[in-house]
Amino acid sequence: MVCPFCGKEAQKGVLSGDGRCRVRWKAGDRKADFWDALSGSGQVTAVQYTLSTFTAEAYFCSACRKMIIETDVEA
Ligand SMILES: [Zn+2]
Repeated sequence: MVCPFCGKEAQKGVLSGDGRCRVRWKAGDRKADFWDALSGSGQVTAVQYTLSTFTAEAYFCSACRKMIIETDVEA
């Protein structure tokens, strides 16, 4: 995906978290795993934590430090 803010390529990845560990973003189609947690890589600093588990496909632009999430809102 092209970043709508700066026009550079945003990297596809997966946001994940479960309330016990930090929310992370990992490039590709797989969520961050135990080894990413050990190394501390992929931590998303802007996320607020709840008790519910989640994953979400999200594109990350490292040039302007923005994430783009394609989503809908249930009425
Ligand atoms: Zn950008």
